[in-house]
Amino acid sequence: MTARGLMILLSGLAIPLHAQTPRTLSANDQRARDIFEQLININTTGSSGSTTAASQALADWLLKAGLPPADVQIIGLAGSTNHNLIARYRGTGGQKPILLLAHIDVVEARREDWSLDPFTLTEKDGFFYGRGTLDVKDGAAILVATLARLKQEGYRPNRDLILALTTGEEGGSDYNGVEWLLENHRDLIEAEYVINMDAGDPVMVNGKRLFRSVQAAEKVYVTFKLEVHNPGGHSSLPTKENAIYRLAAALGRVSAYEFPARLNEITRTFFQRMALLQQGQLASDMAAAGAPGGGDTAAIRRLSDVSPLYNAQFRTTCVATELAGGHAENALPQSASATINCRMLPGTPQAEVQEALTRVVADTAVSISVVTPAIPSPMAAHKPEVMNQIERVTKRLWNIPVMPVMETGATDGLYLRNAGIPVYGVSGVFVDINDVRAHGKDERIGVQDYYDGAEYIYQLVKAVSSTQR
Ligand SMILES: [Zn+2]
Repeated sequence: MTARGLMILLSGLAIPLHAQTPRTLSANDQRARDIFEQLININTTGSSGSTTAASQALADWLLKAGLPPADVQIIGLAGSTNHNLIARYRGTGGQKPILLLAHIDVVEARREDWSLDPFTLTEKDGFFYGRGTLDVKDGAAILVATLARLKQEGYRPNRDLILALTTGEEGGSDYNGVEWLLENHRDLIEAEYVINMDAGDPVMVNGKRLFRSVQAAEKVYVTFKLEVHNPGGHSSLPTKENAIYRLAAALGRVSAYEFPARLNEITRTFFQRMALLQQGQLASDMAAAGAPGGGDTAAIRRLSDVSPLYNAQFRTTCVATELAGGHAENALPQSASATINCRMLPGTPQAEVQEALTRVVADTAVSISVVTPAIPSPMAAHKPEVMNQIERVTKRLWNIPVMPVMETGATDGLYLRNAGIPVYGVSGVFVDINDVRAHGKDERIGVQDYYDGAEYIYQLVKAVSSTQR
């Protein structure tokens, strides 16, 4: 065997699980790919990008597919270069519209930090690489591809389908598109419920497809500041009173504290169904934790210790994230402060958490103030007709279980939930829990996972907009 032949053989063996032999794409897959590529190649970061540019490119796809110009709008805060795309796919109007949501802004990505150009879609070894491939330009491109495909087929939904591709979810933009739309153009996005691409992923582990999650609730973000002030003085004459020591002692008590476990309808169902996918102690602990009527405390303890994710499902969490103090190397500190970021279980009042922190800190010299107040994100009452369609499409295409989940992070869904519009996080693209690169270096998704996701969302949108009640 020649050296070259050997190399080819070895590189063949090294091809990861995802690698596909090149194939001719169907017209639908090709369009979904072209939209995705164009979108990834437009920089939409807060620092140097523009979601207006992305909105324009995506609007062109919808117009080309036959949506009337009056139903495709690019709007946003006056003077901003970060506008949103809102499109309305008209149905027979029998029922209240469904809102299809994805954000098109992305987290910053520096070329020197990446192996590849983050703003060029690269297909390599069975993956699509680029900033936003996973969070969440895949979902935005898939929604545009879905509407284009439906239009081409002459499909008439039983209600309007509203597409909102928005700015500001990642926080780098000058405003949040969903919040702005609710305040200024609520009529444009008024819907019975929302399908959000930015949450609720189908999940795989090392390439094996396990279950599809549906985000039905999310925890609520709130941030506090702990602060100690002190007259200070010369560091050659230390006093017992020291702002840094005082704060450090308080932080020690916060670190040792754990909020009580409180399960809700969603987390209970989650653990019950997860139990069926596990074995041994883990399976029995999950079943016991998710049992109706409270859950077994020993099981909850073990699960909380096994994984930060399980722990965060059970309880409100608070954690120190920033620390500051002192003003000179040779001076006693006049102040010391720490940021405490909390993620509250839905339905928890902010005051309850602040009171708990005050009790735990147990020191009146430590002041506790709110830095970022909570925006409530109430749990939606489950609509069985939506969950049933998700179950049906999932069974038909993937034959895996559906898990309702409470997201531990926050999404734009919170503004809509807070405005009384239920939100279902249902993305189409499988995420490998051992390879999550959202916000990170060399962000990627599987190529086949992208095309499968486009098919899934197409079928789901059709299913929820053609059923009779
Ligand atoms: Zn996102």
